[in-house]
Amino acid sequence: MNHRRTGPITSPHLPLGDRRDAPFYGRDILEVAQFRRSDLQYVFGVAREMREMVARVGSFDLLKGKILANLFYEPSTRTASSFFAAMERLGGSVIPISEVRYSSVSKGESLPDTVRTLECYADVIVLRHPEVGAAKMAARYARKPIINAGDGIGEHPTQALLDLFTIFEETGQVDGLTITMLGDLKYGRTVHSLARLLSLFDVRLNFVSPDVLPFPTSILNELDQRDVPWEAHSDLEAVLPQTDVLYVTRVQKERFEDPTQYAAVKDAYVITPDTLSRARPRMALMHPLPRVGEISMKVDSDPRAAYFRQMENGLYVRMALLAMVLGKA
Ligand code: ASP
Repeated sequence: MNHRRTGPITSPHLPLGDRRDAPFYGRDILEVAQFRRSDLQYVFGVAREMREMVARVGSFDLLKGKILANLFYEPSTRTASSFFAAMERLGGSVIPISEVRYSSVSKGESLPDTVRTLECYADVIVLRHPEVGAAKMAARYARKPIINAGDGIGEHPTQALLDLFTIFEETGQVDGLTITMLGDLKYGRTVHSLARLLSLFDVRLNFVSPDVLPFPTSILNELDQRDVPWEAHSDLEAVLPQTDVLYVTRVQKERFEDPTQYAAVKDAYVITPDTLSRARPRMALMHPLPRVGEISMKVDSDPRAAYFRQMENGLYVRMALLAMVLGKA
């Protein structure tokens, strides 16, 4: 959000009736580095209230009259539909632009101009884009808050928030846990954001990937600066017995230039009931989804399979974020 053009967050230009003291009111959500532990507790508290509200009454007019522009330049099922549902359940409305080929983007319109257009009609813009840094760039031009819904292989902050919320809900705490991230750690933006967010806690991290898909050194350096103990492996069995949360990722086919390289690593790890027989009895098995073979469907009925609960949590966390950014929580 361009504060030069809107003034500080106490600006009289911000809509009347909004809670100006609400954390994150009028702010962009671009990367997980914006969140401190106290912010996380706040977001998760609001998310729990949203879950109760959805269970009790389904929807509630907290954001009545507000409009969200849902701008997706990359495919999405969960992120796009959960932001859509979040806005609708809070009584707001949505301008969905996922078919960018039907918008002026296909005529060559730039991201800044697209954002400057949508902010005339909407109060908040959710943006997914294939380029790292696209959300930050959009935020420099926008007067309204931008929420990063994934910028290429960069960050996916709202996913990391719902992932961390799920870890809390599944295990009861985060401090003291050993969390293993598995799969495409090079291109998987969800693990980039989640590892950074977890560095606020007293955790041990394991990174298990094929040699050609390692976790980025730049983020490992950030973990070192925060004294987060981590290990890198290519064999899951080396760390599985000590793992409290196993976070599996998809090999990101769309990021490979050479299809034979993708084919060589796509089935590097497959979680089956046999794998789980060697895991902790209370381990939480997570995945941001979509899965394309990394977790056998035979695992779905195991109580440790948390990925469907995880994706449901996305709705409550995104309801909380929208309410906060729009000054109603
Ligand atoms: N849905 C997640 C993302 O957008 C994970 C994935 O696509 O593999 O990053």
